[in-house]
Amino acid sequence: MPVYQIALPVPKRQTYMYTSDQCLHDGVRVQVPFAGRSLIGIVMGQASDTEHRDITLKNVDRVLDTRPLFTPLMLSLCQWLSQYYQHPIGDVLFTCLPAALRKDNPSEPGPVEVVSLAVDIDTARQQTARAPKQRTLVEMLSQGGRRVQDVRDLLTSAIKRAMLDKAIIKVESQPYTPEQDWQANLRLGEKPHANAEQALAISAITSQLGRFGVFLLEGVTGSGKTEVYLQAIEEVLLQGQQVLVLVPEIGLTPQTVLRFSQRFGSRIGVLHSGLSDNERLRVWQQSRDGEIGLIIGTRSAIFTPMQTPGLIIVDEEHDLSYKQQDGLRYHARDYAAKRAKQENIPLVLGSATPSLETLQNALSNRYQHLILSHRAGNARPPTQHLMDIREQPLRVGIAAGMTQRIRQHLERGNQVLLFINRRGYAPAYVCHQCGHVESCRRCDKPYTVHRQLNKLQCHHCASARPIPKTCNQCHQDAMFGVGVGTEQLEQGLNTLFPERKVLRLDSDTVKGKGKLSSQLDKVNQPEYQLLVGTQILSKGHHFPRVTLVVVLDADGALFSGDFRASEHLAQLVTQLAGRAGRAEQPGEMWLQTHNPGHPLLQDLTNNGYQHFARYALLERKHAHLPPFTYQALLRAEATHASLPHAFLSRCREMLNEMLQSSAASLQIIGPLPSLMEKRQGKYRMQLLLQSSQRSTLHRLLSPLLLQLENVPEARKVRWSVDVDPQDFT
Ligand code: ADP
Ligand code: ZN
Repeated sequence: MPVYQIALPVPKRQTYMYTSDQCLHDGVRVQVPFAGRSLIGIVMGQASDTEHRDITLKNVDRVLDTRPLFTPLMLSLCQWLSQYYQHPIGDVLFTCLPAALRKDNPSEPGPVEVVSLAVDIDTARQQTARAPKQRTLVEMLSQGGRRVQDVRDLLTSAIKRAMLDKAIIKVESQPYTPEQDWQANLRLGEKPHANAEQALAISAITSQLGRFGVFLLEGVTGSGKTEVYLQAIEEVLLQGQQVLVLVPEIGLTPQTVLRFSQRFGSRIGVLHSGLSDNERLRVWQQSRDGEIGLIIGTRSAIFTPMQTPGLIIVDEEHDLSYKQQDGLRYHARDYAAKRAKQENIPLVLGSATPSLETLQNALSNRYQHLILSHRAGNARPPTQHLMDIREQPLRVGIAAGMTQRIRQHLERGNQVLLFINRRGYAPAYVCHQCGHVESCRRCDKPYTVHRQLNKLQCHHCASARPIPKTCNQCHQDAMFGVGVGTEQLEQGLNTLFPERKVLRLDSDTVKGKGKLSSQLDKVNQPEYQLLVGTQILSKGHHFPRVTLVVVLDADGALFSGDFRASEHLAQLVTQLAGRAGRAEQPGEMWLQTHNPGHPLLQDLTNNGYQHFARYALLERKHAHLPPFTYQALLRAEATHASLPHAFLSRCREMLNEMLQSSAASLQIIGPLPSLMEKRQGKYRMQLLLQSSQRSTLHRLLSPLLLQLENVPEARKVRWSVDVDPQDFT
């Protein structure tokens, strides 16, 4: 009997051998016995004779698919993911599948209801001569049967009953066959005339169709990047090829989808976290079988198979939500580049504030650089300023001079946007008598005060408790909130400007289905003049009535332990500025700071992101930091502080041994406590590996991780490896 290699969703970095009396194709699911359980696995290929000589093997219990779930190309991409991110292949494959297929659900759609003519066309026309709606349906069905779900608008229950009674139509259940007619249903909407820079970008992209190539579309906010995507997509769809568009988590609003569907009709596959498993599976099937031409989704949509791939677009490519922070720690943008290469299609990375990684690739000509330097239409770019708040009185974090400015903008009937990166009422609750700070014991961090919920909440582990009236230490009635969060800012603004309405957007006010979208709709209502919020405000939405943007505290990122903090601050500030003055009204942006002389803030406000980013790249080069070096981070955590240290020290020793027998150069930093040293009751440490050569890093990592499976220290901690880490907390 033939023997197969099967990948299983288990933490070990290997495949398992099973026999089967049927011939199994690579990429189908099978059910197999494993350690007393029954598991679903994926067939990875036939084992060679030498691999299984002298071992007795178990038999596959059941084959779940007639058609492979992975094409050979997608399987080889999964192998790449497994090797690149140093993650077990079984878990990689299951991460790439829609959740419904991780269980034993059928992978092919079930039968569908089909409506067709029950009489010849002439008879049908005669019988419906006086019923125009029925007649329309008859004409539609004259070409052949249609799926009931696709003609729902015409085939109302009344019409269906009437036509069934007269035996003009029949409705039958038929086996599912893919309908690849999305091209026929393509309704192209009106489009604006592209300006010169846009036209250049569009033709650069479309002349690359059918060949691999990566583009960085660097365009200031409001310069018409989305319009470039839309016109490039149109060209690809007209050629009968499919397009996959990735957008950041917070950017996938009904407004975004509407913009695409207005241009291309309604048959668009949308993938986001709010869908049910079955809805996700349906889009996966439709894309694989070529039933839809356009798929829009967040991070994991990058795994969607396509029948005739033509183009991949990653919008806001700098966005942090593209990096998965647990399990398979992939970066959807980086994987998109690998996938586009294997599929031999172009990839477009778009941003007003490109990540330094991508920018470096463009500046070194690995990527083609397309630039949109002006705003589309006649909107002028916002001016940027620093406000020195040293020795200025602050009310809810707003300097007196700023309050004046805000008032002026409000009196002109405009909107003002205030950004603060802390939600809740106050970021700490402190006793004025003894100095005691109410802290989460599991994370060793101050609790955030939430007045509306009447709770203290830990933003690191989500634990919460009622707000105590008196101090837990000295029992005096002297507790008060220190610092300002969105909730307090909202309240403070209500007091400062009682005649204006405040709209708060943070994860507390946009929680729940459709909530973000309904809050965003309110932005357009004239009565809301003051917008308060967190990061949510910075992501691609159009706020045309905003003429003043205020960043309450620009200082946090200046002194962070994370070397990317300044890049992220610059991106945030620039994206926020891009919200302002998008229509005819010019906008201004103010950063409140205690460090007005700081070179980063100076550079950013005087010269803009483009200049800042190129300068920051030079700094990174001199400091031997990414993108000029490559990193991998080993993380470990345990309830006892000594265990992560022991484990990571062991890793370090093993690496040093490996380095002795090779000429490779690798920098090993640590073990050091993570930026958040304690979280959810666990002590956390990390070991950073850095090399000027990516291959060196990978050559050492794979054997290290294999050995670690048998190291006793490894069993006492929870550990993981993160290739190209983005987050050091
Ligand atoms: P971005 O994605 O860079 O933020 P958008 O594509 O959303 O920019 O364009 C910003 C605004 O300008 C939108 O309202 C869009 O409809 C408009 N716009 C874009 N390109 C053009 C054009 N060539 N002519 C007229 N209006 C345009
Ligand atoms: Zn906590």
